[in-house]
Amino acid sequence: MTYRAAASRYDSMPYRTAGRSGLKLPAISLGLWQNFGGTRDYPSAFAILGAAFDAGITHFDLANNYGPPPGAAEELFGQVMARDFRPYRDEIIVSSKAGYRMWEGPYGEWGSRKNLTASCDQSLRRLGLDYVDVFYSHRYDPVTPLEETMGALADIVRQGKALHVGISNYPQSETRAAQAMLQKLGTPCVLHQPSYSMLNRWIEADGTIDACGELGIGMIAFSPLAQGVLSGKYNTGDTQGARGVSNNPFLKAAEIKPETLNAVDALAKIAAASGQSLPQLALAWVLRRREITSALIGVRTLEQLHDNLGALARLDFSPEELEAIDKATAG
Ligand code: NDP
Repeated sequence: MTYRAAASRYDSMPYRTAGRSGLKLPAISLGLWQNFGGTRDYPSAFAILGAAFDAGITHFDLANNYGPPPGAAEELFGQVMARDFRPYRDEIIVSSKAGYRMWEGPYGEWGSRKNLTASCDQSLRRLGLDYVDVFYSHRYDPVTPLEETMGALADIVRQGKALHVGISNYPQSETRAAQAMLQKLGTPCVLHQPSYSMLNRWIEADGTIDACGELGIGMIAFSPLAQGVLSGKYNTGDTQGARGVSNNPFLKAAEIKPETLNAVDALAKIAAASGQSLPQLALAWVLRRREITSALIGVRTLEQLHDNLGALARLDFSPEELEAIDKATAG
């Protein structure tokens, strides 16, 4: 059956402007890192992606290496764009990235002109698109001159292969240097994509969040639920099919520290007192900062998507709640 997007798709999602750009993103965006790989069948993937778009999620985040195996998520999303989202291309923001290992040899990762240029072409082929909306340098490369990485990003925009440039995982000082170069090149950085959650506040400690505010760079926070730890499932043991108990190198349930689980217990009480689920509290917390344009979630099931969308019902906090959250996560 042909998909037709819900007529109500723009009724309840807030859209926030990325820094000092004209790019608007939904408060909640959806990433395809782990849950849309080669083993996922099209109908179950599209059940989630279609429901997301129906709810106003206009931004889908990818990278060359998302899967598993690497490349599979872009291939799947390419099928979605060709089959079901085709009439909606101009309503959708697609991003991709290059920087983590994707192919063998010295050019298959990091931030060289060779890597970024070839990787962007590969991503466009897998996605079946003429351009992506945002193309990111996925991580800062301490060896390649930053001028080369930023120059390659700017050229990708000039060639019409991306509309905007982004950086991901860059520390504060490299963020400042990258933006200075990109502004001179006439392709300012519109988005910084860092990890950020109640349990992971490195962008506050490092000053990256303040720097982005000052420099007019929007921010899209990845792993706002700390890969599911901030759902409480590793406290309750309700972990069937969960990332931390599968054969996944990025999260191991057995390695989650007792102090983290204690913090999650305390946060669950705060969420319950405010009538929110813990994921809803966690997403609203990330969005409380004006620098954060969007919270970038990853969901495995439709139920998780609906739960997370419920965060939009209450995005404000009292000073007492914020203090209690800081106290819960201080140890
Ligand atoms: P999250 O912190 O949102 O974690 C997603 C996982 O949390 C889900 O797979 C699920 O885990 C669990 N979850 C989500 N919602 C719920 C819920 N309501 N109740 C219970 N469990 C829930 O984000 P990700 O770590 O997946 O990252 C999101 C996106 O960010 C990625 O898809 C990618 O686009 C981007 N990213 C970027 C990186 C970068 O370097 N730039 C690095 C990592 C991610 P489970 O499957 O175990 O049930």
